Formats: sequence, C-alpha cells, structure tokens
Amino acid sequence: GIPRVQISSLSARDGETVLFRARVQTSRAQGNKMVFLNLRQRADSVQALVTVTPEKVSKQMVKWTGALADESIVLVHGVVKKSPELIKSASVGDVEVLISQIHLISGIEGRLPFTLDDASRADTDEVPTEDGKAQQFSRVLLDTRLNNRVVDLRTQTNQAVFKLQSAIGDLFRQFLSSNGFIEIHSPKLQGAATESGASVFKVSYFKGSAFLAQSPQLAKQMAIAADFERVYEIGPVFRAEDSNTHRHLTEFMGLDLEMTIEEHYHEVMELLDGLFLSIFRGLKEKYQNEISIVGKQFPADENVKLTFRQAIDILVEDGVPRESLDDINKYDTDYFIIDKFPMELHPVSSDRLFVYLTYFTTQTLSNSYDFFMRGEEILSGAQRIHEPVLLAEKMRSKGVDPDSMKGYIDAFRMGCAPHGGGGIGLERVLMLFLKLNNIRRASMFPRDPKRLDP
Ligand code: ATP
Ligand code: MG
Ligand code: MG
Ligand code: MG
Repeated sequence: GIPRVQISSLSARDGETVLFRARVQTSRAQGNKMVFLNLRQRADSVQALVTVTPEKVSKQMVKWTGALADESIVLVHGVVKKSPELIKSASVGDVEVLISQIHLISGIEGRLPFTLDDASRADTDEVPTEDGKAQQFSRVLLDTRLNNRVVDLRTQTNQAVFKLQSAIGDLFRQFLSSNGFIEIHSPKLQGAATESGASVFKVSYFKGSAFLAQSPQLAKQMAIAADFERVYEIGPVFRAEDSNTHRHLTEFMGLDLEMTIEEHYHEVMELLDGLFLSIFRGLKEKYQNEISIVGKQFPADENVKLTFRQAIDILVEDGVPRESLDDINKYDTDYFIIDKFPMELHPVSSDRLFVYLTYFTTQTLSNSYDFFMRGEEILSGAQRIHEPVLLAEKMRSKGVDPDSMKGYIDAFRMGCAPHGGGGIGLERVLMLFLKLNNIRRASMFPRDPKRLDP
C-alpha cells in the first residue's frame, strides 16, 4: 500500500504518493473549484490543496473539504509536490500536497474557544491596519487558555514547552544516574504532617486522616540511612499554600536528590552545580529549535550568560558592598556560586540565567543553600541532621512532637552517614528558563488555590 508518513518528512518526498493523518489548522476556499488547507501534526504543518480534476476530484468533494471545521482530524491521500512560492506559514515550506482523497477521522463539536493563530501570538504582537494605525491582536488570556487547556496545548509554543519539560527530566536523570544515583519512589500519603503543619493537605484516610507529602525529604534521608548513598526522585509535591503568585502551585513536580557527604557539604553543592550546568547545556545543545519557537512568543535574552563583570555590578546594585567582592574579582569566570551569602540581603534581582547564590543560615547553624535563577529561587537544600538526639531537639524547638515522627527519627538510631541534598521545582525552572512569566504556563494542567480542573 501507500506509505503512512510524517509531515516532517515530506520535504524529502517530492513526487511520492503519501498517506497521513493530520489536523486541519485552517482552510481557505478559492472560488468553488479549489480549497487550500493548512495541515498540522504536532508542531509541523504543510499546505495541501484539493482542486477539481476530471474523474478524480468532484466539485462536491471540494465543497465538502471547504466546510471542514478547523481542528478536525483528517486522513489524507495525495502527491507531494515541490513548490518554491508557498505560503510561509507552513513549517514544511517548500512542498505542498495535492490531495486526491480525504476522510474525516474526528470532527469537532461546537465552536473552538479560540483559534490556534490567536493562541500563538505574543502578548505584545501588533499589526498595522489599512489606515496605518497599530492594532492589538485579540489576546487569549491565561485563564481562557487554562479553561480550554487541550486546545491551548496544541500550539507550536506549547508543544515545544512540554518537550523541553520532558528534556529537563531526562537530563536530570542522565546526569544523576551517570554519577552513581538511583531513582527512588517515596510515598505521597503520610501519617504525620512533616513540617509545622501549616502548608500540608489533610485527606481522609479510612477512619482517620493522612497528609499529602510536601517534600520527599524524609524518605530520601531514610534511603540514605538504608545505605543507598545517592538517591533521587522525580515526583509530585503538595503544598497547601494559599498563595496566588506567578511562581507557586499547590501541586508541582519535585526534582529531588540526597547523597552522603564525605568531608563537607560543599560536595553536594558542587554536584548540584554540575547538575544545573549539564541541564542548561543539554537544553541549549539539543533543543535549540524548541527554545527558539518558544522565544518567538515569549522573548528571552538570546545570550543569557552573565559575564563576570555584569554579575558583580548586579550584586553591588543589590546592596553588596563592592569591597566584599574584591576576593571574587580575582577569578576570571562568568558563572559563580556565592556561599555564606548574608541572610539580610535579597537574592540578586537579575534577569540573567546563570546566577546561583547560596547562603549560610547562621541562626539555625545548618549548612544550607538556595540556588536562584533570574533572581528567583529554584532550589533549596542543606546538610541534614543525622544525629537522633539533636534531631528530636530541633523538632521540639519548631513545635513538632518527635513522637509523631518516630519512624523517621528511628532511622537515625541505627546509624546514618552524614548527608545532604536538595529539591528543585521542575515547573519553576522551566518557567524561568523560557521566561514564561507565569508558572501555570509551565504546567500541563496546573493546580492552584483557585483551579482544580481541568
Ligand atoms: P518559595 O520561597 O519560592 O516559596 P520554598 O523555599 O518554600 O519556595 P522549598 O521548600 O525550598 O520551597 O522547595 C524546593 C523548591 O521547590 C523551590 O526552590 C522551588 O523551586 C520549588 N517550589 C517550592 N514551592 C513551590 C510551589 N508552591 N510551586 C512550585 N514550585 C515550588
Ligand atoms: Mg514557599
Ligand atoms: Mg524560599
Ligand atoms: Mg526554599
């Protein structure tokens, strides 16, 4: 039979008869003898046309094709033809398909909430009208997009956003597994609220109640006590925070890791540093096409690398005395981590990508660090307490009854190596990397205090 092909391969199939399934992105009739279709498979599209030909294509078929609703799925049978003067909106630009048969596979009910063209426009897009005045395109608001997420997700931009989201997970896994980590899966249903209780979802659990895990930290630490030495997890994290901000969700994907420490908690920071570099490098090396597709709708700096001198200036602007930076000045690098960053200073409000700061929380005497990207937090981590008596003391000081977390404390009574780790928010990193300006755009079906559906 005729080969089933992908639209992306059509450029190389001049003259061939092909069969493929696609969505009708747009259709445009020309008189009553010809209809142009823009057909789409995921992020690829091609122009196709149905035109009346004796014995093969009837007038009725052309009419029927012209009446197909946008976003219908069709099965198309036709011949690929190179054609240099094609409409540029088709991504497979230099070929078109002359359709000889077309079947409707799945139609649409009612009306589309918005056109994909409208949903693909940058918020700031303007077009000149006939009289020369700039006119704003109809914008598709975020709420409208999220209420009709399935259609919204079909845009080229969103296809690229979620390919990149998947890539971050892949790169995270690759880096860690090549550094001796194993992936674990910790329970999300818990018997006790793990922190002070304020931000935990309580769910009914048979005759009692349970809590949704707001971090896999306890389980990761117990895996260390069980001698797994280096573990990571990609899993949901639940936070009952009623914070309607651009960067908080009530459910997000946590990229978490925990490892034993030989001599110093800086070993963890170094690993995290290598991890982020390998993720960002991997994205830039292998996903340039997706990054530039998203960049058209959400413009980001082309070159997000911060030079050393720029970084120093930003820090000074943010209130760090220039003298205190003299030491760093000796190094000639454009990427840096600042350890023991003074607590009272805000993280740099930079727009740039590669700025990580860590600080030393002197009040609690814990070796902890936060990493920032474009001035917003993407990771928190710390060396943990592996000493049971100190751990129980700590809990009491925070108003947590150690008895309520006996299983956890017990893990350290059987001996546990010094260890540390950290947790990253996947959607947060994706939002900041692509400058999507709202975390909901980086989540396929976001959950926030006002949204549980779709
Ligand atoms: P923030 O200061 O932004 O509220 P946090 O310090 O409360 O974050 P952590 O408990 O340190 O968050 O969680 C580790 C990481 O998980 C954060 O650095 C961030 O990337 C991500 N994260 C935390 N809370 C959320 C949330 N509500 N929605 C999405 N991502 C989150
Ligand atoms: Mg928080
Ligand atoms: Mg924080
Ligand atoms: Mg934090």
